[in-house]
Amino acid sequence: MKTDLNATLRSHNTFGFDVLAERLVHITDRQEIPALVDKANKDKAAWTILGGGSNLVLAKNIPGYVGLMAIKGRRLVKETDSHFYLEAMAGENWHDFVAWTLNQGYAGLENLALIPGTVGASPIQNIGAYGLEVAHVFDSLEAFDAQTQEWVRFNKADCQFAYRDSVFKHHPHRYIVSSVCFALPKQWQANLSYAELAKAFNSTASATPSVTALAIFDKVCEIRQAKLPDPQVLGNAGSFFHNPIVSNEQYVQLKQAFPQLVAYELSTPFHQVKAWKLAAGWLIDQCGFKGYRQGAVGVYDKQALVLVNHGGGTGEQLLQLAQDIQQKVQEKFKVQLTIEPVIFQ
Ligand SMILES: Cc1cc2nc3c(=O)[nH]c(=O)nc-3n(C[C@H](O)[C@H](O)[C@H](O)COP(=O)(O)OP(=O)(O)OC[C@H]3O[C@@H](n4cnc5c(N)ncnc54)[C@H](O)[C@@H]3O)c2cc1C
Repeated sequence: MKTDLNATLRSHNTFGFDVLAERLVHITDRQEIPALVDKANKDKAAWTILGGGSNLVLAKNIPGYVGLMAIKGRRLVKETDSHFYLEAMAGENWHDFVAWTLNQGYAGLENLALIPGTVGASPIQNIGAYGLEVAHVFDSLEAFDAQTQEWVRFNKADCQFAYRDSVFKHHPHRYIVSSVCFALPKQWQANLSYAELAKAFNSTASATPSVTALAIFDKVCEIRQAKLPDPQVLGNAGSFFHNPIVSNEQYVQLKQAFPQLVAYELSTPFHQVKAWKLAAGWLIDQCGFKGYRQGAVGVYDKQALVLVNHGGGTGEQLLQLAQDIQQKVQEKFKVQLTIEPVIFQ
């Protein structure tokens, strides 16, 4: 295992925060996962897994072993009458994997194009965008259980997927994902459920135009590039806060007080009772934060949901700004914003 001592993680997190990993280990083979855990246990040291670092706030140096997930490989595992089963190793770049599946003729992941990060991290927060979540196309994954020291296979029910959530988020130092398998339907249908995509393809409730998966892939890339800052240019982790979910009662009160409130009714299996998802970006914008700058960190000027590092900022400064935003939103709307990225502090 290649190990770098006191290595900077600046190029391994999309905010570009310059913190150090005490021991940075490059994991390029499945068997290096149990070896890393074993080594950490013997040294009585902590271990942490990093993928592409696109959902992290690194506010301090990370002690112990930091395993950089870099296991590569992708393949068609099997096909049934109804589905293609495609597997990728945890260190594969997510967007490259999506592009590869389409190039091989397997449609179904196109709505999730251009999400940064690795395949291995995709089930951790059940990544989602443009009307699709990983949970919808997930078959199973393999992970190493650091507690029992055994390899385990998770099916969809085991993962307990919910909005930006899974069982793995609740056991942060237990499972290390080595590969993920996706089930893509042979009877592919365009998913234009997201209003902006439907508009782009002139789709209506009564008529869905004939559109290819590749066309959706290209459109999603185009929309995302116009909306979100490129982390190579401006450090960020995408949406910084979850869109808060409120009861129907709270929604009605808010809508009366703020008629312009942006909200979407939830009708997913995760929410049996009538509930609403509020647009966190709108709440933040209404508190005057869009384009706001606090030293080297700030709020993106085109989308208030995205916090940015203008260069030279620290994770601590960013968390202070996040706290200020949470406080203002709480005061004005009585709504608690929760932070999406994983915080190391
Ligand atoms: C510009 C931008 C746009 C984004 N847009 C979206 C979006 O539309 N939708 C969305 O859902 N997310 C979005 N994100 C967030 C991010 O891309 C996803 O959360 C992504 O899945 C994170 O992958 P990663 O490899 O970078 O994970 P990391 O940030 O490296 O890690 C995230 C967490 O997962 C854990 N982890 C990583 N790999 C493994 C593994 N193999 N086994 C066990 N634990 C692991 C880490 O320990 C950490 O706790 C965006 C981020 C950016 C920067």
